[in-house]
Amino acid sequence: MTMNYAELHRRSITERDAFWREQATRIDWATPPGDGHEAICDASQPPFARWFPGATTNLCHNAVDRHVGPRGDQPALTYVSTETNQERTWTFRELHQEVQTMAAILQQLGVGRGDRVLLYMPMVPEAIFAMLATVRLGAIHSVVFGGFASASLATRIDDARPKVIVTADAGSRGGKVVAYKPLLDDALRLATHSVDHVLLVDRGLAPAERQATRDVDYLPLHEQHRQAHVGCTWVDSTHPSYILYTSGTTGKPKGVQRDTGGYAVALATSMDLIYQGKPGETFFCTSDIGWVVGHSYIVYGPLVAGMRTVVYEGLPTCPDAAVWWSLVEKYQATVMFSAPTAIRVLKKQDPECLKRHDLSSLKHLFLAGEPLDEPTARWISDAIGKPIIDNYWQTETGWPILSVAHGVEPGFPTRFGSPGVPMPGFDVQLLDDSTGQPITTPDTKGVVTISHPLPPGCLQTVWGDDARFAKTYWSSFPQRQPMAYNTFDWGIRDADGYYFILGRTDDVINVAGHRLGTREIEEAVSGHSAVAEVAVVGVADSLKGQVPVAFAVLRDASRAATPELAQALQAEIFKTVDQHLGAVGRPSRVVFVNVLPKTRSGKLLRRAIQAVCEGRDTGDLTTIEDPTALAQLKERWGG
Ligand code: AMP
Repeated sequence: MTMNYAELHRRSITERDAFWREQATRIDWATPPGDGHEAICDASQPPFARWFPGATTNLCHNAVDRHVGPRGDQPALTYVSTETNQERTWTFRELHQEVQTMAAILQQLGVGRGDRVLLYMPMVPEAIFAMLATVRLGAIHSVVFGGFASASLATRIDDARPKVIVTADAGSRGGKVVAYKPLLDDALRLATHSVDHVLLVDRGLAPAERQATRDVDYLPLHEQHRQAHVGCTWVDSTHPSYILYTSGTTGKPKGVQRDTGGYAVALATSMDLIYQGKPGETFFCTSDIGWVVGHSYIVYGPLVAGMRTVVYEGLPTCPDAAVWWSLVEKYQATVMFSAPTAIRVLKKQDPECLKRHDLSSLKHLFLAGEPLDEPTARWISDAIGKPIIDNYWQTETGWPILSVAHGVEPGFPTRFGSPGVPMPGFDVQLLDDSTGQPITTPDTKGVVTISHPLPPGCLQTVWGDDARFAKTYWSSFPQRQPMAYNTFDWGIRDADGYYFILGRTDDVINVAGHRLGTREIEEAVSGHSAVAEVAVVGVADSLKGQVPVAFAVLRDASRAATPELAQALQAEIFKTVDQHLGAVGRPSRVVFVNVLPKTRSGKLLRRAIQAVCEGRDTGDLTTIEDPTALAQLKERWGG
């Protein structure tokens, strides 16, 4: 049956159980859903939702084992490190063995169903073997991004209470060795929870101390279990597969808890309908396994779909800005997934780098994680001559809330500046933040919410804290029926149903009674051709409440080399903002900097910028990419 996007989406909401029962056939089950008396979705206890309860499956089986028969000799994982000059491919059959070997090691260390395994790892293949091996055993992984320092790691260790931690001696970034093991040792000293074992993957990059009995080396155990056979532990669809910590408005990170069956079905559905990846093809996602994009689209999504995944350790600009495109060509990637920030980094490099490689295999470039500004989208689209598809989602949802489902309706038009329309199962509602009423007038700003139940693949709860899950996400609009999940993003919907994300509700600024999204101003500022990147924050002002201040990185820094030049350029940018947005959004100042303070995943540290401008303490900066960025910003700001 052919269907268009609108019918598909309508069915996913109004005939929810029938729709997802069909999607569930995309994966393998030991006990299929809907058998016996269980519902497809148990939504009887909002805000919770249990997908495919009573059905049993295994995530590792779906990512690896089931492909060994039909495509055992096809590539499953290609690892490329421009840091250690390694490049190696594993077929599905070889990956199957590596995962069983890792599972045997974890079993020997006492890991079983429901136990937690924490990973504090750089981008090495063993990290992916460990994720897959953990879920193979019915255990629960928690990957902590390698950029977190000891104190943040300790908080996560105490919350997840893992039996085993898998780590490496070190990572490497831009040729600089970053030791991991000493940071983990410190974290374990700080934590109140103690682990049974630390499994150490020694890459030979940095010296690592071993604590007798607790710390064990991977290599000898790998040799011992080289040919191990370890079957998959079938678990209930609702059994947790992993915990992934994400920051909230409070200091304590939230452990986003994901299920097993719902997640596998959601990913398989997204790979077909959104990313259009086919078995035997190659998917290249440039994220890191420490983030949700890495979980869903470096590890599980491509593998569940029977695709090769390319895992890359290194900078996008090393040895030069053509490195990613060389991998697209070499491995014939059909789908690529990156973040707008990465594209803006490339924008500052030699555009010829993008033309050096044959990108004919590539069908689409997907970008997500932060707002995709129109100039960047246009620039990359022109540079590589491929369609750019924005997709909007969160750690909590695990897969896109908004995008375009070209897998069902190939001609569905994308619109610059918009991540698209709601994806299957996401009943997106824009609500008025003060009245809680749905917004029906086009182009009117509201809070992006999702009606209960969330579709398969989204967070089940906050690990160990159901009350926090209910309070954080579901209590903003108490009068709503069904209950509304708050994304904490502002959005508008145009007359054709396309959504535009205007930024976090928690970053809103209020200028002389006018509510403005910093994102809207950023888009206007970056409309000036000299600007490569910009961050706008609201700074306290005694007259207007708040004023927006723009921090801009120029494509050519010499354009603001003297105070006179800087002033002239600022005047031009003001004019651009006036034209794009109106004088109401004009920043009070444009401060030119060489680099913006960001996390290593590319998120702007807005709060820290704001704190610098307001002379306050910047708070936790453990994830900052370049620690000198804030000092420079402070100096140019004049604080
Ligand atoms: P995270 O959970 O760290 O992935 O951050 C999720 C947040 O990033 C969302 O709530 C949005 O504010 C923002 N975000 C993610 N993807 C997009 C996108 N495509 N367009 C605009 N904002 C996005």
